[in-house]
Amino acid sequence: MSQHVFLSHRDSQRLFDALDRAGYQAQAPQPKDGALVFSPIRQASDLPWGQHDTQRPGHYRLSQDDSPRAFAWANGPQALKPQLFAPSEPLWQVARDADGKLRFQACAPKPQKRALIGVRPCDLAALAIHDAHFLGGERDGHYAARREGLLLVAVNCSHPAQTCFCVSTGDGPAAKEDSGYDLLLDELDDGFVIRAGSGAGEQLLAGLALEAATPGQLASAKGQQHQATQGQLRHLPDNMASALPNQMTHPQWDKVAERCLACGNCTAVCPTCFCHSEREQPALDGASSEHLREWDSCFSSGHSYLHGHLVRESGAQRYRQWLMHKLAWWPEQFGRIGCVGCGRCISWCPVGIDISAEAHLLCQGGEA
Ligand code: SF4
Ligand code: SF4
Repeated sequence: MSQHVFLSHRDSQRLFDALDRAGYQAQAPQPKDGALVFSPIRQASDLPWGQHDTQRPGHYRLSQDDSPRAFAWANGPQALKPQLFAPSEPLWQVARDADGKLRFQACAPKPQKRALIGVRPCDLAALAIHDAHFLGGERDGHYAARREGLLLVAVNCSHPAQTCFCVSTGDGPAAKEDSGYDLLLDELDDGFVIRAGSGAGEQLLAGLALEAATPGQLASAKGQQHQATQGQLRHLPDNMASALPNQMTHPQWDKVAERCLACGNCTAVCPTCFCHSEREQPALDGASSEHLREWDSCFSSGHSYLHGHLVRESGAQRYRQWLMHKLAWWPEQFGRIGCVGCGRCISWCPVGIDISAEAHLLCQGGEA
């Protein structure tokens, strides 16, 4: 493990200058349309200083005060998913040449080196799941191209939202040693305790020549990690692994379907969801076409369409597919549940459906 060093807030531009010198485009969460979303940033002064989020089921609001911190908030609607798995992208194009023949061309993204600042421990856990999915078996070239040259500057959470439950999934609020960050920050009122988790991170820190963090700063960082752990209100049921797989006919599926709008917001904001569909987008003149890959959702009707038949016609079936795949079936496929406890699906569900509460209702008395 690298040494912990300290970067004061007033010197934080030095980190941005070092990233710039190393050829990275820095991106950090910025307030946009009332939420924090990753955007390019050149100056430390543009970090989201003094921003706070208030989240509860069906509710997300940002507010600003004179807090000296840049990361006194939990998370925005995006994790790393859109950075690597684009919401919509062409896989190939076809056009007619002068002789009227069709010419096909594969599309390959050519992203520049990016440093993402403000990545949360739950985001790192979700990224590991996506790495296993997109790179583990048949390698997805589009994901791989974006994954290369990505530098992750993670921040341990000191202000979990009311909707967070990463303690219960084991993914936060502090990042694990082997979770893949390049740099890891604990923010205090006057600066950042930093350590490196990779060679690229070590190199950046060496270039900054910072003083070692003091025992007092290390104790403060540990103390706020402990507080963030204690502050979480939600958790998944302890008996979930044994009880949930037996609940395929539980009456709760119909009850949740009475509220669920099948809008797919939960799957769009979920950092681990990776379902997609593909379609053609022909140009209006008929001379060319693009073959697009787009995010899809267990809640869309087309997602379960199979040869003239909808496998999951009702909202209850679609919600069951989503929750059961994540919480009951993923361990067999991926060696862990498909939820990292970020709480986004709870905050961004327009009717405030809470996956942790649903899991408790389904598992109550449930070891059949
Ligand atoms: S659970 Fe909520 S966010 Fe998900 S599809 Fe239903 S209404 Fe939409
Ligand atoms: S299911 Fe909900 S809480 Fe779990 S990772 Fe997805 S968005 Fe986050």
